[in-house]
Amino acid sequence: MVVRVLRLGHRSERDRRITTHVCLVARAFGADEVVVSGENAGEAVSSVEKIVLKWGGDFSVKFDKNWRKILLGAKKKKHLIVHLTMYGERVQDVVSAVRASKDVLVVVGAEKVPREVYELADYNVSVTSQPHSEVAALAVFLHEFFEGKELEKKFEGAKLKLIPSSRGKKFSE
Ligand code: SAM
Repeated sequence: MVVRVLRLGHRSERDRRITTHVCLVARAFGADEVVVSGENAGEAVSSVEKIVLKWGGDFSVKFDKNWRKILLGAKKKKHLIVHLTMYGERVQDVVSAVRASKDVLVVVGAEKVPREVYELADYNVSVTSQPHSEVAALAVFLHEFFEGKELEKKFEGAKLKLIPSSRGKKFSE
C-alpha cells in the first residue's frame, strides 16, 4: 500500500511553514510521499529533506507545479483520491471504505481549491465539518486511516532517535 499526499496551492512566502508542517505530519503519521504544488516550494522541500536525513524513514517530498497531472495520473493508476475539505462527507462514515483501497492520494488545499478537484476526488472528506487547518485535517485523517498503527512506525536509518522519557530530552545516535 502506498499513501501519497498532494499539497495544493502552495504560496512560496506565505505557506512555507504550513507546507513544511503538512510534510512533517505526512511523514510522522505514516504517508510515503508528499507532492507540493503551486508556487516554487524549494525551501520547504529542502527543509523536509534535511529532517528525513536526520530522523530516518523511507519518505520523499517533491515539487510539481502541475496538480492536474498528478490527479489524472493517480486516476489512471486506479489510486483512490481523497480530498480533505470541511464540506465533505464525515471521515468516520467513509474511512473504512477508503481503507479498502490499495493506494491512496490524499489531497489538502491552502486557500480556494479548484472545483475540478472536488470532481476528480473519489471522496471529499471532512474532519469535523468545521473550518480548521490542512495540518490538523491530515493528521486526524491519517490516524483514522491507519487505525493508530502509525504510532508504532519505525523510521529506519535514523541518525538521531528520541528515547521517550517522562522528563527531559534523551537521544541515542
Ligand atoms: N474552505 C476550505 C475547505 O474546503 O476546507 C478551508 C480552507 S483551509 C485554510 C485549507 C485546507 O485545510 C483545506 O483546503 C482542506 O484541505 C483543509 N481543511 C480545513 N478544514 C477542514 C476540515 N474540517 N476537514 C477536512 N479538511 C479541512
